[in-house]
Amino acid sequence: MLYVRGHPLDYDLWANITGDPGWKYENVLPYFKKSLDYHGAYADNEKHYGQAGYGYLNVEKRTYKPLHKYFVNGGKELGYSEIDLNGPQKSGFGPLEVTQRRGERHGTFAAFLKNFMGRENLRVIKYAQAVKIKLDKNQRAVGVWYIQHGKKLLAKVSKEVILSSGSVGSPQLLLLSGIGPKEHLKSVGIKPRVDLPVGKNMKDHLATMIFPFIINVTQSMIPERDFGLKTFTDYFFQGHGPLTLPTGTSSHAFFSSSFVKKTGIDWPDLQLYLMAVGMYGSFSEDISSLTKVRKELLDKYLESASAIGKDAFVLMINLARVKSFGELKLASKDPLKHPIIDPRYLSDPHDLKVILEGKEA
Ligand SMILES: Cc1cc2nc3c(=O)[nH]c(=O)nc-3n(C[C@H](O)[C@H](O)[C@H](O)COP(=O)(O)OP(=O)(O)OC[C@H]3O[C@@H](n4cnc5c(N)ncnc54)[C@H](O)[C@@H]3O)c2cc1C
Repeated sequence: MLYVRGHPLDYDLWANITGDPGWKYENVLPYFKKSLDYHGAYADNEKHYGQAGYGYLNVEKRTYKPLHKYFVNGGKELGYSEIDLNGPQKSGFGPLEVTQRRGERHGTFAAFLKNFMGRENLRVIKYAQAVKIKLDKNQRAVGVWYIQHGKKLLAKVSKEVILSSGSVGSPQLLLLSGIGPKEHLKSVGIKPRVDLPVGKNMKDHLATMIFPFIINVTQSMIPERDFGLKTFTDYFFQGHGPLTLPTGTSSHAFFSSSFVKKTGIDWPDLQLYLMAVGMYGSFSEDISSLTKVRKELLDKYLESASAIGKDAFVLMINLARVKSFGELKLASKDPLKHPIIDPRYLSDPHDLKVILEGKEA
């Protein structure tokens, strides 16, 4: 829901790794523009947004952004300007633009499928799970096996298979199809077809939160105080107000650790989110279910800070370019079994140093 494109150098790096110039930022930029129906604050930037109304994914600026001006002013005190963090991404503080339409989530289905379901060249198969990619004798993908209502069926292709099952589902399906590390595939009883390091370079953006920053302005979200009739009518009739804020997040910033600064290249490795969330009654319970930190511990901590019920904000510090990488493996050749994921968070000590710098900043 937060519209964040990524840094040009991230794409250029992928182009280098894959040897495919198609991934270069200048080559993916036209696709970003083509997919957008842009109604954000930076429509004048034709290079990055093109014409409004060009594509289907609605991106708009927030009309409701509590604490934003304080956040940006804080950034200015640290020497950062207020900028559009997508056009192109660099160090700075800025508002968040969102994939919403009048304040409501505008996800992949709403943007790219809902209005096209009647097309003759589109068939959506529901209640189905892809279980294997069919390869021909030259290891070319020629179909996809899937299970629907207990039956195994084959979807044949005339041109190509586009695999987009997400960062867990995609490697899992490749492994199930015999595309992956030979020894691992043999160990679960799958015949190796193409020996590749699938699942070996799993990266996740670890984040940490700091809270509570108690404030003396009534600008954070406290559901028991703020969720009344007006909140609902604002949302449903105006597309405005607290219900349009994904987890209270209203602004963000990108900045670099000392390690990146030394290189002289503006390629931020830290991202900061401002969440205008007060210390509402079930805050500990929600954070505990999200982070697995014990609720009793959080309760004690918030009580000792006399924070409960007060307006506050939360900062979330996100590693933008992790060095640690984990691994995804199959638990079994049964496609309906979850794979085994070992994220190996912070296994590279560099990541810990960077995230601590982010906390100190
Ligand atoms: C909590 C959370 C918040 C996030 N917030 C943001 C945000 O605000 N902004 C942002 O830019 N990014 C955000 N992200 C990241 C973003 O969601 C992902 O980068 C994005 O969804 C990846 O898209 P995808 O199409 O590759 O995979 P997904 O969106 O994961 O889609 C994969 C789909 O394939 C299906 N699937 C998987 N395996 C199979 C199978 N075998 N057969 C059939 N179907 C299968 C899955 O059910 C799923 O529907 C967030 C991620 C998380 C977890």
